[in-house]
Amino acid sequence: MNENAQREQICILGKSLFDRGLTMGASGNISVRLDSGWLMTPTNACLGRLDPARLTRLNAEGHHIAGDAPTKEQFLHAAMYAERPQSGAIVHLHSTHSVAVSCLPDTDPHNCIPPLTAYYVMRVGKLPLVPYYEPGDPAVGDAVRGLAGQHTAVLLANHGPIVAGKNLAAAVFATEELEETAKLHLLLRGHNPRVLTEAQIASLHETFGRP
Ligand code: ZN
Repeated sequence: MNENAQREQICILGKSLFDRGLTMGASGNISVRLDSGWLMTPTNACLGRLDPARLTRLNAEGHHIAGDAPTKEQFLHAAMYAERPQSGAIVHLHSTHSVAVSCLPDTDPHNCIPPLTAYYVMRVGKLPLVPYYEPGDPAVGDAVRGLAGQHTAVLLANHGPIVAGKNLAAAVFATEELEETAKLHLLLRGHNPRVLTEAQIASLHETFGRP
């Protein structure tokens, strides 16, 4: 896919996420890896009204070279990409159910959402919790970097998920799967749900690969 097509796709999928209430206001950001550098949604941009010509263009060193100024959460994306050379796109949202799970005192920091469905296991897998940091604190980048090598998605405490994918469509699908499974998890709290067994999870990884 060439750069113009990537720009169009970021705007189409950003609007789709916004229209379905997965992101609101000017929260959330999307990035895509190019042959040399990245495209990223700009600071204070609403994902529902992105302009393909104004997306932030970063060079291979991560410096802003064209378009509007990058999102203030640029370093979250940089931390994920640094540990995930196989990832071509990243989505970060403040999606309601995922944020709710990130606020619960009994959330397991090594695995925030239980393996309720096969598609969650295939697209997200184990989701670790990154401790709470103030917005813009560069220390959160180090915390994300420490987990990103082993996980395609991480959940920032009292903030929201960061999800990587081999391309933008895959990253968006995984983000949607995460948000819907967070909703299921909240619906099932107190009901002692049956979750997939270790053997069932191992079989999925064997058949479909690890996310
Ligand atoms: Zn955020």
